[in-house]
Amino acid sequence: MPVPNLNQPAQTHAPTNRPQKAPQKRKKRRRLRKSALIVITLIAVALSALAYFGYKKLNPLSMHSTTYIAQYQEPFDAKANLKGVFLDSNDKVSFEGSVDTNSISTSECAYIYKGRRYPFTVQVRDTKGPELEVQDVKVDTNHNVTPQDFLVSCSDPSNYTLRIDGDDPNGAPGNYTISVTARDDFDNTTTKKAKLERYEDTKAPDIEDFSEKLTMKQGFDYPSSSLVVKDDHDENPVLEVDTSMLNTSEPGDYPVILTTRDISGNEQSYTQTVTVEADPDFGKKICYLTFDDGPSATTEDILRILRDMNAQATFFVTGTNPEYNGLMKEIVDDGHTIALHTYSHDYDSIYASEEAYFDDLQKISDLVKSETGVETKVIRFPGGSSNLVSSANEGIMTRLVDEVQKKGYAYFDWNADSTDATGIDVDPSQLVESATASIGEDKVVLLMHDSPTKSTTADALPAIIQAYRDAGYEFRGLTTDTPPVHHNVNN
Ligand SMILES: [Zn+2]
Repeated sequence: MPVPNLNQPAQTHAPTNRPQKAPQKRKKRRRLRKSALIVITLIAVALSALAYFGYKKLNPLSMHSTTYIAQYQEPFDAKANLKGVFLDSNDKVSFEGSVDTNSISTSECAYIYKGRRYPFTVQVRDTKGPELEVQDVKVDTNHNVTPQDFLVSCSDPSNYTLRIDGDDPNGAPGNYTISVTARDDFDNTTTKKAKLERYEDTKAPDIEDFSEKLTMKQGFDYPSSSLVVKDDHDENPVLEVDTSMLNTSEPGDYPVILTTRDISGNEQSYTQTVTVEADPDFGKKICYLTFDDGPSATTEDILRILRDMNAQATFFVTGTNPEYNGLMKEIVDDGHTIALHTYSHDYDSIYASEEAYFDDLQKISDLVKSETGVETKVIRFPGGSSNLVSSANEGIMTRLVDEVQKKGYAYFDWNADSTDATGIDVDPSQLVESATASIGEDKVVLLMHDSPTKSTTADALPAIIQAYRDAGYEFRGLTTDTPPVHHNVNN
């Protein structure tokens, strides 16, 4: 057993006793330090809040910048540079100064709040690039592309120039990416990318279903509207029809030269032999009496006169007076031609689109079919094919005259006018004078109306019929075989 060393009792015990007391003291000190830190932080926060509050109290108004950039030729918002007011509404701030955004200028301005001025400078500058919209372009290798080819729209308050950059905008066939850049007078630019497709075109457009021989009736126009031209690249190939050697009033064989051309300059000529067949009616004097807008309260008067005078006529009917629809049957039973004038006769709606026109035409066609059993293909455009009432829809008449014929309709305008549409119940003697002014022409298509506001037309009708009859005319209804009488299309 070892002997205890009496010289070192305290030393042997000391290391075990001291550590027992020290951790408690340290913990206390740490706690004190933590509290002090919190207090200091709180004081610091309080002081900075006080300082901020004090600063804000002294400088309550803040702005975005002491130099504000206003856009050239855009409305200037006087409060746009105002960031806010400390604990108050922006409405309490007033603006002092005058800014003219129509000129590149600098103005000294200020905000006024609680009697104090906060000055700032407004510089009117154009810092925005032009507004640019571009499109992809498809052209043949002969075409020199220009920035305009890619341009859909470009606008800027000042003038601008356009530039294109790309791999090879005027090179070989292929696909290219082109940058279109618009630069305004202040050197702001906008760049947009577009695709350029260059193709090689060596083929002229074709005429679909081209026939080397064509037979037509004496007195008819050459049917150029039935020709369809197609090109492999050009969406609007040109067709030239040379009928200078064709005499439609004399039976015989004639050459007609058709030439197609595309945008690349490829050209092809076709020769067609046109046989003009003799028409037994050619040279005969025929009057086609036509009545638009019925049936109406006047229809029965007109029918009675036609019956009494043994004259055939044509009625271009609408669906706007349903109480008289039953008279359509009487028109047909009397041997007259029932023809279509559209259901609504409402210019704005029927000429709004091709679809609207044909929907309306189908509606009157169905009505006539159900009232009379007749499916007629003879039509007249409200206002005639030369009308300008359709001009809100540019080119609609040009498209419609083409489409109605492709759909098998025969449209008729007129080459004589009774002038009964120039007013309400026009004096019958004036109607007779106007209606008979065309006596002497071989074929007369006479415009009259079947309407309650044009009842004097019925009064004038016997004298009109008598005058034509005395001049050697016979009276017929129009058919799809009647030589067409067409106005010049103006829209
Ligand atoms: Zn009409």
